[in-house]
Amino acid sequence: MQHTAMVFPLTQATEDIDMQAIHDGQCGLCGHFGENHAKNDVLVSIVTKKEADVVFIDECGHPRLQGLHLKVTPISGCDGFVPSLAA
Ligand code: SF4
Repeated sequence: MQHTAMVFPLTQATEDIDMQAIHDGQCGLCGHFGENHAKNDVLVSIVTKKEADVVFIDECGHPRLQGLHLKVTPISGCDGFVPSLAA
C-alpha cells in the first residue's frame, strides 16, 4: 500500500463538480488535512476559498491516527480538528 497521500479524486473526474462550502470544524480547514505531504494547489484552494469538490479525499495526519492512514473528505470532521494556519 502506498502511503504518500495527496489530494486526489475519489472518483474519476466527471463534468458534475459538487463544490460545497467548508466550515470550521471540517477536515478541509483542519491543519491535519494532508499535513504529511507538501501543500499543493488543491489544498491551498480549499483553505483560501473555503469550498471544495467533495470527491477529493486526503489523509488525516492527526498523531492519534498515525499508522491508520485515515482518508477523509473536506466535509468530514472529528473532535481532533485544529484550524489550518492558512485558514
Ligand atoms: S479527521 Fe479530524 S483531525 Fe483529521 S483532518 Fe479531519 S477534522 Fe482534522
